[in-house]
Amino acid sequence: MENQLRQAQKMEAMGQLTGGIAHDFNNILQGISGSLEVMGMLGAHGQPERAEKHLRNALESVKRAASLTHRLLAFARRQSLDPQPIDVVALLSSMTELLRQTMGEQISLELGLSSDLWGVHCDTNQLENAILNLAINARDAMPNGGRLRIDAENALGHDPEKIDTEAPEQPYVRITITDTGVGMSDETRQRAFDPFYTTKAAGEGTGLGLSMVYGFARQSRGYCTIDSEPDEGTSVKLYLPRYISKVQHAPVPERVNKPHFV
Ligand code: ADP
Repeated sequence: MENQLRQAQKMEAMGQLTGGIAHDFNNILQGISGSLEVMGMLGAHGQPERAEKHLRNALESVKRAASLTHRLLAFARRQSLDPQPIDVVALLSSMTELLRQTMGEQISLELGLSSDLWGVHCDTNQLENAILNLAINARDAMPNGGRLRIDAENALGHDPEKIDTEAPEQPYVRITITDTGVGMSDETRQRAFDPFYTTKAAGEGTGLGLSMVYGFARQSRGYCTIDSEPDEGTSVKLYLPRYISKVQHAPVPERVNKPHFV
């Protein structure tokens, strides 16, 4: 439980930090971008070819940096959510083609969708993003091919932050994404949800994928766990609370089928 709490505090602090950095960085970039454009015009009167080449490179860097700050800002704002009732089976079915394309030819895709799955209530785009993020991580962990399996089933679970209380288990829809990839070391498994923690080469990983999935799960009153063994594979489980619609069935009339007490 302490771990989860630390995780939440860390997320909060990182969110504030990245928000500050991104804002300042964007202002600076706007200044650079403006000056470069002016220099471009001046260059036209001196050594136009050289000036133009350098300026093009510089403007390219500015664009790359701006795209980084946009991603940081999106992370810091931590997604304003628009929760709606969702049929997870329909959502996963609609993502099948995208997932197949993302996996490529060397990775097979299996779906195990329970036929009587409960509904959930969360942001559809964020749920899609979370599933896609987890699938991309799985793909990256299987450079020589393998199997990706996605299961969705009804399950009881304990919110890890409430595990010390006497609270009974709660009903969740559990989405499990399992791969047969390289797996994680103990250290990676423990740090995987940390913002900016990545074992990928510079430029290939941001270290934000799993922390965003974690943040989304917490904001949706669910949670997320990782089971992983080096060289065996990884299973990430996303627990989202069961959604019970407010629509009530008509009440059975008092007297019907009931013993009558005077
Ligand atoms: P990124 O993918 O950009 O590195 P993530 O937050 O998504 O950032 O993941 C953090 C780290 O967790 C990855 O760098 C990798 O070491 C590990 N990881 C995540 N998913 C898997 C997986 N399915 N199999 C093995 N390692 C994984």
